Amino acid sequence: MAATRKLFVGCVADDFTGATDVANIFARGGLRATVLIGVPNDDREIDADAIVVALKTRTMATQAAVEESLAALRWLRGRGAAKFFFKYCSTFDSTPEGNIGPVADAMLAEIGETFTIACPAFPANARTVYKGNLFVGDLPLNESGMRNHPLTPMMDANLLRVLGPQSKAEISCCYYDTVKLGASGIGEWLTTADKGAPQIAVVDAITDADLIEIAIGFKDLKLFTGASGLAYGLTHYLVRDQGRPEAPLALGREGYRAVISGSCSFATNGQVAAMLADHEGFRIDVASLAEGRDVVGEAIEWSSGRLGRKPLLIYATAQPDEVKANQRRIGVSISGDLVEKALSEIARKLVENGVNELIVAGGETSGAIVKSLGVDQLAVGNEIAPGVPWVGATSNGRPLTLALKSGNFGGPRFFIDAWDRL
Ligand code: ADP
Repeated sequence: MAATRKLFVGCVADDFTGATDVANIFARGGLRATVLIGVPNDDREIDADAIVVALKTRTMATQAAVEESLAALRWLRGRGAAKFFFKYCSTFDSTPEGNIGPVADAMLAEIGETFTIACPAFPANARTVYKGNLFVGDLPLNESGMRNHPLTPMMDANLLRVLGPQSKAEISCCYYDTVKLGASGIGEWLTTADKGAPQIAVVDAITDADLIEIAIGFKDLKLFTGASGLAYGLTHYLVRDQGRPEAPLALGREGYRAVISGSCSFATNGQVAAMLADHEGFRIDVASLAEGRDVVGEAIEWSSGRLGRKPLLIYATAQPDEVKANQRRIGVSISGDLVEKALSEIARKLVENGVNELIVAGGETSGAIVKSLGVDQLAVGNEIAPGVPWVGATSNGRPLTLALKSGNFGGPRFFIDAWDRL
């Protein structure tokens, strides 16, 4: 019933793509990482060094977000996690009342600790923190596109001011003057800063090297809060100092291969075009779908006899003009749902017919397909492109290797070259 290896990190992520992103960082650093979709209601066996529970708490009402996060934390605690990580976005996405402050407060109390850090810096994605202010590229957070975010507009770059009203803890800052001294300087700062009363320290960080020093300087903390950059630093520390050898998960089995694409992003359109140059493809005609034709049956019939190690492509991907025309004719949400439902059924049938290596393109599309395949756990393997790992899963008892690609990720040959990374 318990995990068979020591669980180094138990992570609670406040959204789904953030969960796979952070799991990918753990895995890239050499930890075996697994993502759980929601808090499991069983005590399953998981062979992982890092378990990430994917929640959707970012914009939830505060009390509900706290309760779900604590349920995830308790589950991870029950697995004997040595450290806990509350993962949020590197742009500190949160409503004014938070989930970040209240969840961090509640997690600290739950594990009987008083001190944690808030470190959203992710230099690889140009998110840095200086003097407690978050920058996106050259711009303060509130001057970046985050100002206009539909759900969590960020109007202040100063994280002490953002976090203050959200949290009951004292909000302090570990300034770059300290961070640049490295782990020993940070450790010394902590001994004077920690007064045994609840406190969240915003930590400045500009480079990946800073994040490693931060992880080592704060290594005795039980709870870390931040984005994937801090996970990078923490993984480096855990793998180096705790002696977990790099052990990428072996994925890929001798089955059939397919790509299902429901993303209409610029990048995906390019990837579909590149694949069609020398692979067979079946285009889902949305107008026919809307007329009630059995497009799913046609796609499956087309695929039978063609399935093999050379991947097939089934796609609804279209250029913006065509998508707009479909949306005008059928409605935005109806056309989206129709396509997602059709692609989910196709995925399920392809898996029944022997496909066990499947790439899915599109965030919403991936969500729909993962659900229809009955997948609730993802074991993270090799990274294909930044932010997109191969993941191992099980669908109704069948082992599957999946890649879930969010629309704009990946280079033009993603669908063709991804298999080399298995
Ligand atoms: P991305 O990650 O690129 O945003 P998503 O899968 O999240 O991709 O979103 C794409 C949406 O567009 C899905 O709801 C999908 O069903 C819908 N869609 C895909 N193809 C078409 C099409 N040809 N016409 C209209 N909607 C489409």
